[in-house]
Amino acid sequence: MSYPLFYDSVTACDECDLLHRIPPLKSGERFKCIRCGHVLISVHEHVKGRIFGTGCSSLLMLAFALAFPFLGYSSSGAERSITLFNIVSVLINQDYLILSAIISLALFVFPIAYLLAVIFLVWSFDNHHVSMAIKRYFTRWVIVIQPWLMVDVFLVGTLVALVKMDSLADIELGLSFWAFCAYVLLLLKTISLVDRRWFWNQLAGHGPDHLIVKPTVLEKSALAKSITAKQQELIGCHFCGATLLGTAFHCSRCGHSIHSRRPHSLTGTIAFLIASVIMFIPANVFPIMQTTFLGGNEPSTIMGGVLLLWSLGSYPVALIIFLASVVIPLVKMLSLSWLCWQCYYPTERETMQKIRLYRITELVGRWSMIDIFVVAVLTGLVQMGELMSILPGPAVLSFTSVIILTMLAAMVFDPRLLWDKNEGSVMPSSQEKKE
Ligand SMILES: [Zn+2]
Ligand SMILES: [Zn+2]
Repeated sequence: MSYPLFYDSVTACDECDLLHRIPPLKSGERFKCIRCGHVLISVHEHVKGRIFGTGCSSLLMLAFALAFPFLGYSSSGAERSITLFNIVSVLINQDYLILSAIISLALFVFPIAYLLAVIFLVWSFDNHHVSMAIKRYFTRWVIVIQPWLMVDVFLVGTLVALVKMDSLADIELGLSFWAFCAYVLLLLKTISLVDRRWFWNQLAGHGPDHLIVKPTVLEKSALAKSITAKQQELIGCHFCGATLLGTAFHCSRCGHSIHSRRPHSLTGTIAFLIASVIMFIPANVFPIMQTTFLGGNEPSTIMGGVLLLWSLGSYPVALIIFLASVVIPLVKMLSLSWLCWQCYYPTERETMQKIRLYRITELVGRWSMIDIFVVAVLTGLVQMGELMSILPGPAVLSFTSVIILTMLAAMVFDPRLLWDKNEGSVMPSSQEKKE
């Protein structure tokens, strides 16, 4: 017999602002927005034990991944074996400090901080001696760093680097490579189990109930005519999902500043987009990688690398790099610009289509980092002096800034603005079994 794990609470959808009263949910159930289909809360079975298990195992696998050789390389009688630390240390020795800092943050610092914070929080839910301020601090930290965890992108980047080197040298996968794969899978599983609203509910109970309309009236009228938090003069906290009075400046549950619509959302998005377009030019004009082979220096740009791979017959890898490094950033910049335009001058097109486009741009943006990780892995691996060595080119930093700027543009964009001008259609199903 299973009992409700998440109790009745009023919340506004993060993407369309529609108000919902979440019914008691049991293990394995999730609740979706009736208008835009955004998952508002997922309640997983035995979630505390599972987060604890996957989180600790992920940290253990990372320890293994750091302890043994990651990749081995042999070519023309020369041999070399590297650990994960070597990838960072070679970059530091070659004075690529910013790139080494980005790799360290994305691979080790953020994931370790995330896992430790999640494990600590799960333990602290049943431990009332831990102060609320500390629990709140860690919960905020978990939410803020989650989009910046890029271990899965790094793993795909490593595989692409291996295919790139396949024709030039014999590559051997070290023990730590397999431990790293396990670390990535376990970290992804932990992330999928962490639900923002469930965490805040466990931490501080459900949010204040300021709803003016009575529950039964709300359910019927919300289906017939969308009632948003803004129409009710309420504000949905973007950080914890609580619903607060429109006069409040800070959320009483999580302490975060609250706004009915993110302030300067469109101007912020446009500013980040303009900056990313400017950085996109040097990212494509200058070489992203410099290869020294038998004393000769061969710089290659992003497109140059794609064309070289294509001419060598590595079609899938050429396609992956072309999609990740050229198509995704361009499509992301164009779609975000179009979405900003739609907020000012909405067309007849259904709002749901615009929301789907926004979700895709937010989801795929981080995958552009593949080429940066490919360059970092090759730099760590191929260091044979004059015989053959690979170094990052000047475009690495401008391309990294393109990715970070477009990710920030998508984060600053407030999708609720798309609904404000267009009343969308209401979809029927809101609650479904997941597991
Ligand atoms: Zn919604
Ligand atoms: Zn809040």
